[in-house]
Amino acid sequence: MKNFHVLVIPYPAQGHVIPLMEASRCFTTNGLKVTFVNTDFTHKQVINSCSGPGIDGPSDLLQMVSIPDGMEPCDNRNDFGKLTKTMFQFMPTKLEELLNDISKNDDEKITCIVADYCMGWVAKVARKMGIRLAVFCPSSTAVLALTMSVQKLMDDKVLNCKGIPLKDQMIQLSTSMPFMNPANFLWVCVGDSTTNQIIFDFLILGGMEAAEAADHIICNSTMDLEPGVFSMFPKMLPIGPLLATNKSTRQVGHFWNEDSTCLTWLDQQLIRSVIYVAFGSITIFNQQQFEELALALEDTKMPFLWVVRPGTSGHNIDYVYPNGYMDRIGTRGKMVSWAPQQEVLNHPAIACFMSHCGWNSTMEGVSNGVPFLCWPYFADQFFNKTYICDIWKTGVGLNKDVAGIVTRGEIKSKVEQLLNNNILKENALNLKENVMDCVEVGNSSDKNLNKFIDWVKEGNDKVGASETYI
Ligand code: UDP
Repeated sequence: MKNFHVLVIPYPAQGHVIPLMEASRCFTTNGLKVTFVNTDFTHKQVINSCSGPGIDGPSDLLQMVSIPDGMEPCDNRNDFGKLTKTMFQFMPTKLEELLNDISKNDDEKITCIVADYCMGWVAKVARKMGIRLAVFCPSSTAVLALTMSVQKLMDDKVLNCKGIPLKDQMIQLSTSMPFMNPANFLWVCVGDSTTNQIIFDFLILGGMEAAEAADHIICNSTMDLEPGVFSMFPKMLPIGPLLATNKSTRQVGHFWNEDSTCLTWLDQQLIRSVIYVAFGSITIFNQQQFEELALALEDTKMPFLWVVRPGTSGHNIDYVYPNGYMDRIGTRGKMVSWAPQQEVLNHPAIACFMSHCGWNSTMEGVSNGVPFLCWPYFADQFFNKTYICDIWKTGVGLNKDVAGIVTRGEIKSKVEQLLNNNILKENALNLKENVMDCVEVGNSSDKNLNKFIDWVKEGNDKVGASETYI
């Protein structure tokens, strides 16, 4: 019997690799074989941190491989513009070579490709090689809906042909979707103007093409969270929340080693007493903002767990804590360089989550009924904040002052405001119930996952007829 063999390919960033690894685990649990293709660079990071007790790495059904991203070893991969453009130009040939290599063994032939929509170039390779395509959405589905609506927005003169907003007014993709601010569109606020243009030309237009070409679009979301989008785009199938904790396993695909001493520290704290502070894998603060946050956490007098990634003050220099800070904080605060975030959010000691509102962090907080203090940094995070604060009403936003700083006073007052608001806390718990219900057997996300798995398996019956796809 032939394997049902899926090739999975994420954009090389932490917030893309983790959910696609989780989706891959759902595939292998359902008997599919997965070849997970990272770039050489991220492959090394994932493999290096894929050790330690209880962390299940590659298995018989999941193999991890890599291809080059086209950048030089010393190039700055935080330059998303350069990375994206280089990958779009360089990686198609490398993926073709890999696919040809795999197909030398007839039993290993790829049944379908699941590509991150941010890797839109994969669609052309799939078409050329006659392999069926599904697209994965690691962001909110609303952001993908926006991507798929770009042509219409150009026709309606909301955007010019380069994606630049022509009007300073909020837009709504459909009456059942939240308003969106063009100034916060991903390709408008991700970097400088050159980076923004590359992101629009390659990632957005490429993503739109791939999503249109794909037979299915699978999303780390749920019907309940984004009903407006799913009714607008029936091809989008929510299969979320994709969480390791759903299966009582540990999160995989980390780029850094997690410090699990914070879990023992959490065990010693009172129920719902701890502020969890983490801003994902990309956010950068300057030293002044870092100090302001440090002092604010001190002012709250509450226990806090704070993820401080080293070397991220913008110039690869580590942050400096205020004078005497560590002595004053003592064991009330715990700082780690990388946390096992899903387990942290699942811990009963957590009271609230101060977050940059990356989509994975958003899904993880929501799935654990944790209320948010929203501090978006860039890209889609501003829209995710809208979901949290205005639509689901499970959090409050932190505002910058005229100098662009979120002050110590603002942070302290919003922590108090959130923790004294029983309605927000109750909303968070109710939303958790709804969202977690979706993955129960026979419910929406479970059904969609099965629909997708059936589609993959159907594909094997059609092997040999794939020429029709070219
Ligand atoms: N994460 C983690 N430990 C940390 C911080 C983050 O495991 O200390 C994980 C988090 O659980 C999430 C991912 O890293 O799955 C970050 O993705 P997100 O979309 O929230 O933000 P990004 O890093 O893309 O900005």
